[in-house]
Amino acid sequence: MSEQIPRQPMPEQPAQERRHNFKEVPLGYTPEAAQTEAGRCIQCKNPACVTGCPVGIDIPGFIKPIKEGDMPASVAKLAERTALPAVCGRVCPQESQCEARCVLGKKGEPVAIGRLERYAADWARENNHSIIPPKKPATGKKVAVVGSGPAGLTVAGDLILKGHEVTVFEALHQAGGVLVYGIPEFRLPKAIVQRECDNLAALGVRFELNSVIGRLQTIDELLEEYDAAFIAVGAGTPTMLNIPGENLVGVFSANEYLTRSNLMKAYRFPEYDTPMYQGKHVAVFGAGNVAMDAARSALRLGAEDVKIIYRRSREEIPARAEEVHHAEEEGVELCLLSAPLEFIGDEQARLTGVKLQKMELGEPDASGRRRPVPLKGSEYTIELNLAVVAVGTASNPLITATTPGLETNKWGYIQAEEATGKTRKPCVWAGGDIVTGAATVILAMGAGRTAADSIDQFLSWGW
Ligand SMILES: Cc1cc2nc3c(=O)[nH]c(=O)nc-3n(C[C@H](O)[C@H](O)[C@H](O)COP(=O)(O)OP(=O)(O)OC[C@H]3O[C@@H](n4cnc5c(N)ncnc54)[C@H](O)[C@@H]3O)c2cc1C
Ligand code: SF4
Repeated sequence: MSEQIPRQPMPEQPAQERRHNFKEVPLGYTPEAAQTEAGRCIQCKNPACVTGCPVGIDIPGFIKPIKEGDMPASVAKLAERTALPAVCGRVCPQESQCEARCVLGKKGEPVAIGRLERYAADWARENNHSIIPPKKPATGKKVAVVGSGPAGLTVAGDLILKGHEVTVFEALHQAGGVLVYGIPEFRLPKAIVQRECDNLAALGVRFELNSVIGRLQTIDELLEEYDAAFIAVGAGTPTMLNIPGENLVGVFSANEYLTRSNLMKAYRFPEYDTPMYQGKHVAVFGAGNVAMDAARSALRLGAEDVKIIYRRSREEIPARAEEVHHAEEEGVELCLLSAPLEFIGDEQARLTGVKLQKMELGEPDASGRRRPVPLKGSEYTIELNLAVVAVGTASNPLITATTPGLETNKWGYIQAEEATGKTRKPCVWAGGDIVTGAATVILAMGAGRTAADSIDQFLSWGW
């Protein structure tokens, strides 16, 4: 019966309208659509979907009350395992996690778990319905959390409820990590992230913004005052292409481009002070979520044409299928099997074009993806006045360089035990992208939860 009900589509802003504004693209389910979609879940006794969720949300448990119209019960079930449902419902790659394992997906389409999670979280926000889980009596122990992305926020939320004092140190002037400086407003409205941070502050978490740890204070100095430290500084150092012309005016890293637009609100210039470099003909290099976000932002900032330049084929594109679909609908052009050789500029060192080379796919490389091989004599040039490089990020060495005893791997990521988040340095834990390399919001949250449990045990029983 449930299998016969089609998966409920998500209403969206029309592509031609939304490519000119920064308002959210998917509009959310109506109560009727949410109840119908929730009715598709057959409430499996051994739900496979839960095994695909890195934080183990009781998925049938939060979906059933939606079907029954009991929204407070649904929100309460979600709150047992996640502090950021409105965020995860929007940006998690459900298609490769919980939804990939849903039994309905074997014969048809899986239950739209992410859309239902978003519906429940939005219902709570719109109805001012907040769940304040019980807080344990104060222990007198103090924890310093460095970085306020999803890993840091999860640790802070878990430890404050366990009765410990928690201070989050954040280098930027706003908390949220990539959720505020990277992911654009049209995918994740900033007010939603701010609300999650406000909830933590209301529980007693202290936020020290504009605090670059490693400069202002070292981890060892923090440990003179705090009983434990959790490092969650992400992987925010941009990787560039290292080709000639990369220092021309008009070539940006995706980090700078997106941070200007999102965190510094350049898309609202001159209402906000930060200007945005204007590009009529734009190319974004790379094809991950970051590249899609940069390309779609460029369209909204007034570009006439935006190309994604990617050296592999459509099959290897690492971005979420939904993001690629949205980008193409909005008019972003995919230039596949093309690699940049050189940026070209005018006498004032302003970007005017890029020389590209066609590629073909050879044998699989270490990542298992087929290696792109240059096609001799296939060079061509396109006109360009803005280039955004989105080919990955690396670890920021500031903390590791100023913290003796912290071990890193060959890429500079901190080594921490997977089961606990413990580093080799006593009283110091780490998690999120600074341990795994660039990953996902939910994996960062999962690492935060694991570390919070371990820190709590240490504060109660010792190292
Ligand atoms: C543009 C973009 C789009 C993405 N889209 C998705 C998506 O759709 N779905 C998904 O699941 N994932 C997505 N990701 C990945 C995801 O956002 C990250 O994996 C996740 O945010 C990592 O969380 P984190 O807590 O480890 O670090 P971050 O979110 O990077 O937060 C780290 C924080 O630490 C702060 N910090 C750094 N150094 C210091 C210091 N020395 N002192 C104090 N503070 C410091 C930083 O300012 C930052 O606020 C995207 C990433 C980007 C960049
Ligand atoms: S696997 Fe699918 S049908 Fe079964 S409980 Fe999970 S969401 Fe519902």
